[in-house]
Amino acid sequence: MATIYSATEPDEGPEDLPGREVDLDKIERGVRLILEGVGEDTGRAGLQRTPRRVAEMYAELTAGMREDAREHVRALPGDKHDEMVIVKDISFASLCEHHLAPFVGKCHVAYIPKAGRIVGLSKLARLVETFARRLQVQERLTSEIADTLFDGLKPVGVMVVMEAEHTCMTIRGVKKPGAITITSAIRGGFRKDSRTRAEAMALIREKE
Ligand code: ZN
Repeated sequence: MATIYSATEPDEGPEDLPGREVDLDKIERGVRLILEGVGEDTGRAGLQRTPRRVAEMYAELTAGMREDAREHVRALPGDKHDEMVIVKDISFASLCEHHLAPFVGKCHVAYIPKAGRIVGLSKLARLVETFARRLQVQERLTSEIADTLFDGLKPVGVMVVMEAEHTCMTIRGVKKPGAITITSAIRGGFRKDSRTRAEAMALIREKE
């Protein structure tokens, strides 16, 4: 029997205050250059605070660069649960490192604990958030979540599935709105055991 949790929203934002170790002034100067580059008048009213706002936005969207993801995968003491745990529909937003364009979607995390080592459910959402809030490619993002959970918790197996829409594909370039990229990373027991893998996939796919 598996335990399924649905997480439509991560419970809270990153602990680190964005911008703490970010050079906001430098980003601001860069944004001003972009505005000039596209032919804008940086002095007009609507754009006056734009460079600062954009700098603050990038600080927030890269906050995961200044966090240690391993902190989110410490095992809870004294638990005995050894059945599959799935947290699905963890929403995330990340920035593709090729275009600095957002890609947005959902992450599903499944793992089978070993020796009762489990992690708090909200911590899984934090783990996803920490890696998502960096400049990423979806494949690496997926692997980093799986590897950190696998190394930190030493479970029997880990499976991470991510589905996302990449705005660099949907609003520019090939312009394929609605195209969804799906990636997965499978570690440990899930690799060998196709039935357990199928069970996890079925639970992830199941709609309430
Ligand atoms: Zn891209």
